[in-house]
Formats: sequence, C-alpha cells, structure tokens
Amino acid sequence: MTETKYVYPFGGGSAEGRSDMKNLLGGKGANLAEMANLGIPVPAGFTLTTEVCTYYYDHGRSYPPALEAEANAAMAKVEQIMGKRFGDPADPLLVSVRSGARSSMPGMMETVLNIGLCSATIPGLIAKTGNPRFVYDAYRRLIMMYSDVVMEKAAGVEVAEGRGIRQQLDRMLEEVKHARGCASDAEIGADDLKDLAERFKATIRKVLRKPFPDDPREQLWGGIGAVFASWNGKRAVSYRRIEGIPDDWGTAVNVQAMVFGNMGGGSATGVAFTRNPATGDNRFYGEWLANAQGEDVVAGIRTPNPLNEATKNEQNAHLPSLETAMPEVYRQLHDIRDHLERHFTDMQDIEFTIQDGRLWMLQTRIGKRTGTAALNVAMDMLAEGMISKETAVLRVKPEQLDELLHPIVDPAAEKGGDLIAKGLPAGPGGARGQVVFTAEAAVQAAKEGKGVLLVREETNPEDVEGMRAAVGILTARGGMTSHAALVARGWGKCCIVGAGALDIDAVARTISVNGRTFGEGDVLTLNGTRGLVYAGELPMIDATENPRFVDFMRIADSIRVLKVRTNADTPADARNAIEFGAEGIGLFRTEHMFYGKGSEEPLFLLRKMIMAGTEKKRRAALNELFPFVKRDIKATLEVMSPRPVTIRLLDPPLHEFVPQGKEERKKLAKALHVSQKKLAERAAELHESNPMMGHRGVRLGVTFPEISEMQVRAILEAALELRQAGLEVFPEIMVPVTGMKAELDNQLALAKKVHAEVCAKYRVDSIEHLYGTMIEIPRAALTADEIAKSTQFFSFGTNDLTQMTFGFSRDDIGGFLPDYLDKKILPVDPFQVIDRDSVGVLIRTGIERGRSTRPNLKVGICGEHGGEPSSVEFCHLVGMDYVSCSPFRVPIARLAAAQAQIRYPRK
Ligand code: PEP
Ligand code: MG
Repeated sequence: MTETKYVYPFGGGSAEGRSDMKNLLGGKGANLAEMANLGIPVPAGFTLTTEVCTYYYDHGRSYPPALEAEANAAMAKVEQIMGKRFGDPADPLLVSVRSGARSSMPGMMETVLNIGLCSATIPGLIAKTGNPRFVYDAYRRLIMMYSDVVMEKAAGVEVAEGRGIRQQLDRMLEEVKHARGCASDAEIGADDLKDLAERFKATIRKVLRKPFPDDPREQLWGGIGAVFASWNGKRAVSYRRIEGIPDDWGTAVNVQAMVFGNMGGGSATGVAFTRNPATGDNRFYGEWLANAQGEDVVAGIRTPNPLNEATKNEQNAHLPSLETAMPEVYRQLHDIRDHLERHFTDMQDIEFTIQDGRLWMLQTRIGKRTGTAALNVAMDMLAEGMISKETAVLRVKPEQLDELLHPIVDPAAEKGGDLIAKGLPAGPGGARGQVVFTAEAAVQAAKEGKGVLLVREETNPEDVEGMRAAVGILTARGGMTSHAALVARGWGKCCIVGAGALDIDAVARTISVNGRTFGEGDVLTLNGTRGLVYAGELPMIDATENPRFVDFMRIADSIRVLKVRTNADTPADARNAIEFGAEGIGLFRTEHMFYGKGSEEPLFLLRKMIMAGTEKKRRAALNELFPFVKRDIKATLEVMSPRPVTIRLLDPPLHEFVPQGKEERKKLAKALHVSQKKLAERAAELHESNPMMGHRGVRLGVTFPEISEMQVRAILEAALELRQAGLEVFPEIMVPVTGMKAELDNQLALAKKVHAEVCAKYRVDSIEHLYGTMIEIPRAALTADEIAKSTQFFSFGTNDLTQMTFGFSRDDIGGFLPDYLDKKILPVDPFQVIDRDSVGVLIRTGIERGRSTRPNLKVGICGEHGGEPSSVEFCHLVGMDYVSCSPFRVPIARLAAAQAQIRYPRK
C-alpha cells in the first residue's frame, strides 16, 4: 500500500495538484495548482487535503502522524520559491491559512492572514520594507483575526451577541480612529498601531485568559486547526444544509505565501469576474481598492473602485479604474482573464493582489451568476464556439429558470415610484415587503408566511438563514462582490447592496434617508435588476419572454427524450402552460371546478348529489351537474388541442364538500326536500377518521358508479363534439387511488358501457381515448403487472405514494419535518424530492412489472415531484415517457429533462 499523501505544494510555475482534483484539494487548492501549472503568477503555497479534514474528525480532532513532516517539506519548497524563510527574523515569510471546500462556500469558513508576525520577526520585516506602518497594520490584523477565529470560535468560547473578542478589538480600533480624527483605518499611524497591538494582546489575555501566541509555528498550526474546526461551525453547517452539500466532504486548507496589496501606492487588491455576473455581458467586470487587503473588498467596508472604464456605474463613476490607474498591470490582468476563460471555458471569479506593481493571482473559480447571466454566458460561449450545445444546456441550473420567469417591478408603475435610494443591482428581479432588521426576524416572518425585506448595514455570513428567508435583501454598504451580493446572486434572490444614502440603525430599527424615516413593518419595493429602492408597494409583472430564453429552451427541447406535460384544470392555466412549453396535460383534477371563482352553481349541485340519500336522487343531481362538467372539460380540451389531456375521475373524499355553514345547509335541505336534521345526519355519516385513506378515489366510483358514468360521459361527449368540429383532441381517462386490478375492471366495464351509449347517441363507431390509472398506493406499484393488463397508461401520483410509503400525512408533515431536517433524519423533504430508496424503488418496480405484461405501457408522473429537477432526472432514468408539473415549473422540467439526457443518454 502506498502512503497517503496529505500535502500538495504549488508555485514557481508548477504544482503537484491539478484542477480536476477538487475532491481532494478543494476548489481553491485545485485551481491554485492549475494556475501555477499554467504559468500564471501565484504566490507559492501548499494544500492540506480534505482527507486530513476527514481524519481530523474521525480521530478526535487530531492529525495523521505523517502530516507535520509533509507540511514542513512543503514549507521548505515555498521558502525556496519565495526566497524567504518562515520565522526568519531578518526577512520573514508570512503566510495565509484559508479554507477551500470542493464547492465554494463563500465566507462560511475561516481565514487567518499574516501568520508568522511576532516579536522576533517584526523588526526584520520593518527593516526589509522600510514601512513600520504597514508592518504594524499587518500585525494588528493578524491579532484581530487570530483571536477571533482561533482563540475564540475554534476554541468554542461562547460569547453574548456583540461581546465577541473581535467586536471588542474593533471598538478599540474605532476609539483610536476617533481620537485621532482619522476617516479611515489607513490614516492611523505606525505608533498608534504598534500601541494598539500591545493593548489588543493585553485585552486578549484578560478576556480569553490565554496569551496571543508569539511563535510562528504555533500560529500556523492554530490557524490550520481553526479552519478544519470551522467546517463544523454553525454558519458552514447551515449553508451546507441550504445548498445540499454533504457534511462528509470536508474542507482542504491552503497555506500560501502572503502578498500585500497594502504596501503603499503601488499596491492594490481586487476581485473580478471574467464576465458580468449579473447580466452575463462579455466584459471584464470587477472591483479594486488601492493600498488594501483582499478582505477589505469582500467585507464591503470601503466602496471599491471599478476595474475598467467600460463597466463604471452611477455609484462608482467618479472613482479611478484600474485600467487608468495601473494600465500595465491591468493589461496583464486582462490577458490572464482571457487565458483563464479559454482554459476553463467558463466564466471565472478571480481574486488578485498587486504588490509594489507586481500582479499575483490568489484565486480563480467558476463564478456564481444570476439566472440571466447563466443564460447569456451559455448562449454567448456557444456562439463564440467555446462550448458545445450540450455544455451550454448544462450551464443553466433548472432552478435558475425560476428566476428568469420571476416577476419584476412593473416599469410603468416604477416611473411614478417614490425613489428613496440607489444601490448596486446585486440580485435580479423585483421584491416588495415589510422591512425587518435582523436575520432572526426574517426567519420568523417567513415561518408566518410573510415575505419580508431584510435590511442590514452590511450582511455577513451569520445572516445567511435570514437572507434565505427574506424575499429581498437591501444593504447600505458593500459592493457587487460583497458577501450579500455573492450569496444572493447564487440563489437568484432580489438584492441591492451599497445603497449608501440609507442610514440604517439596527438598534433603533430605522432607516433614515433624506430626512425621512422608515421603521420595522414599513413596506419598500426593490428593483434588484437596477438597484433602485422605492418607498411603499409597487405592482409587479412577469418578466417578458426573452428571445435568448426561447432559443436556449429550443436547444434543450432538441436534446430531451422525456416529454413534459402540465397539471392544469382550467383553460387559463392550460394556456399559460402551453406558453411555458407544456406538451399536454398530465393531470386535470376534475374536483377543482368545485373550488374558487364561478364554482357556486356546480358546487351546489355536487353537494346536492352528495347529500342525496338514494341513487335516484343522486342520478337526478348528477344529470343537473353533467352540463357543467362537460363544459369545463371541453373548454380545456379545446385549448390543449392537439395535445393529450389526462382527465382524472373525482378523487377527494366527499365529506370535503359537505357544507359547513348554516345558511348553505338550509338552502340545500330545501332543494333536496329533506329536513335540516336529516341533512345533518347524512353529513355525520360521511365523516371519516382517516379520510386520506378513506372513501375516496376509485372507491367512490365503485360504490357510486353513477358518478364515474357521468364523468366518463362528459369526457367522451366533449371530445367527440370537438372532433366533429374539426379539432384533434386526445382525452385520457384516469382512475385515481387504485390498489387492485379488480377496481379497474369494475370501472372499465362501466366506461365501456358509457362509450357504447355515447357512440350510439352520436352514431359513431368509437371515440378515441385512453384508459389508465394513477399509481399512488404501494399495492398498485407492487401488483403493476396485473394492473397493466387492464390499463393503457400509468401516472405515478407521488404525493400520495410518498404519503403511503413513509406513513407521513402529506397535510401534517409541517409539524415535524423541520426537526427531521435539522437532526438529519431526512436529508430533504420527500414530498419535494423523490426518495429514490423507497418511493423510487416502488416506481421502478411498478414500471418494470407493468411493462412486463404490457410492453407499450405509457408511463408518467403527476405528483409535485414532476417539476423538481432531481426527481425529473430520476423519472428519466427509470424510463418514464413524461413528467407533469404545474405550469410555472414546465420550463424547469424541460431543462432538467435535457440535462438528464446529456448526463445519462437514453434512446
Ligand atoms: C398524487 O397523489 O401525487 C396526485 C397527483 O394526486 P393528488 O395530489 O390530487 O392527490
Ligand atoms: Mg393523489
């Protein structure tokens, strides 16, 4: 057995790792190695692998015995490349320690910079740089980060809100700034910084009861341990849960030579995207700060400068671009941008530092982008010949389409809107709601079903759950690459950052702007696409179909084999779904005509039927109801022509329709010529203890055949009349909640009888239709070979199938699901994502067995899962013919189906 290798060095034009080693080296480490191999200037360093992290957690937070020697050897290489030694009093090498998981988790884990500064190395660095201010500034930053990350958080020290060591030191820094009348940190002088560092250390010793370490190696290993510990920090864990990142991936740790963007006028630091991450524009886009460290840009503490002239905006037009301030470096950076895009063939998110006029790349990774940008970048790169059409289709996440189809602020109304501030357009679309000032309040409001706007001075990673819960995010500070912007963009959430005119007081919970004040509960409207903040509520409209989107979807459609239908039961929904690309209706729930607008009369007749005590009275009521049912079905069949429409026979337990109100009961009793007492008795008879497993679905049709007969007649007559009018229509009659073949035979006999009657009435030989069943009871899936003998198609009703498989009531799961997710008993809500291990097995078995007796059995799904990307992939994998989902999710399902075909080709 070969020894496990735990450390991978990079730098000086080569590396032991590569970009395809992300699982082992993390995204950051793998790409640093790749850049080194490409000859791009990267400060030398080394990566401790994710296996070290796994080992660390498996062995009581300790390291593999071989690690230290490997790290020492790697450090020796770094020293050789950089020409400095770690801990050397004369010319010390300083290093950073940063996390780097397989997929990026922006700001969720810890970083420590300037490691290696201590009383022994400070004088040497001062002598070497001739810049004591720089050295003491670096030192106070090290102390602030280290005490927070290593000595407090990683050590598990619990502190009250606002009482953390970092905040205490921050306040001391603010006091010095204030006392000296400095506008920014950069104005504090060397002596003050030196003095501050000493006072910091004293405070740390007092508060944390431990001295700040003065030994470079101790600092290094403290930093490394803190990064590994931060993998299981609260923020990282909650981010992983939201993003679905497995806990056992672990993080890598990158130890890298420090380069400094804060060494004076010739130094700078910045972050950039190779294309615009909000719009997808093919223009180099980014932000930089002169004489600063990288964290200053990301933290949104200062308003950063634009990278170039072409991408200036209203907020930063007056600030100098890197293109004009350092043209030579900018050109070099631009070349690297082109090189990286060509090499990775995708938009990159990069970090760089310029130290004394010399450019260093600190990171490159695939850039997070809005749905709009994802679409535009994919289509542009396809046109540029950089990627294939399959790659282009894979570049847009199905969930991102949601955002493209999302509402925007009505531009007409916006013209007259009460504009109170402008900020940067960090996340697209529109959002409106009451404002809240804390993440907790946003989470609470979401629980109550309220859409709120989270308003913060700036957001930090601790706000992530609140940001998720809010419908929109607004901050007064920060740039397009600030934490808030990055996270919101990743989610496609409406977000405005850097609205500097807002004075946000988180304690008083007020926003002051131009002499006006808004408090908690006041409503604002955000236009996240343009960065505009309005007082009050403005109307929203759906984003118009853009031609790019249509082209993109056409490519996806040309690839997929799975058909996509919709669940719709009104002509309006059906029309909508066709616009979204539905190829038929997979579920028309007939009962929906008894809910909502215009339902009064049919509902009354249905109630009459339900409360009728005899078959005769029931038939009379059904005859009255018939024209309404036929009219409804006909209208939808007509809209859908020439596409197939699956019409399901009545499903819900009848008691759901029993009138509860006194007036309604009175009216009904009168119409039925019975006493109110009698009516009440009948209602009581209909009561069930477990209605979801009670008298519903096909069971209704078995006990009251006249109900099914009326519906089948309505379907066949509607279809025939439309056919006779020259329309192609394809009705599919579907029986719900079936468990046994005999149930289907019972209903089939009745359907055949009605078919013969309708044919006789209209003097035709036959009316084209299909007869099929839902599979939503485990027994049906398990006996599918039998069931398929009596039906031409199956449609998996995964809502009920999940309910029956888990024994979780689909209506009551809200009571315990959050705990199940929190405690990791369930990875996701099984009513949203098909549980492949259970429901999935039933589906697979059902299809195999069904097709064993009827090879051309048509199979689809019409449960909620039909519009959820990973479930769509599963439907593709098990050989379904179609999925059916709500109209809005049709494009999502189309794209998911195309991606499934690219990943798992199927004939
Ligand atoms: C199902 O159970 O998955 C289904 C589509 O039927 P309903 O949701 O109407 O019970
Ligand atoms: Mg069902």
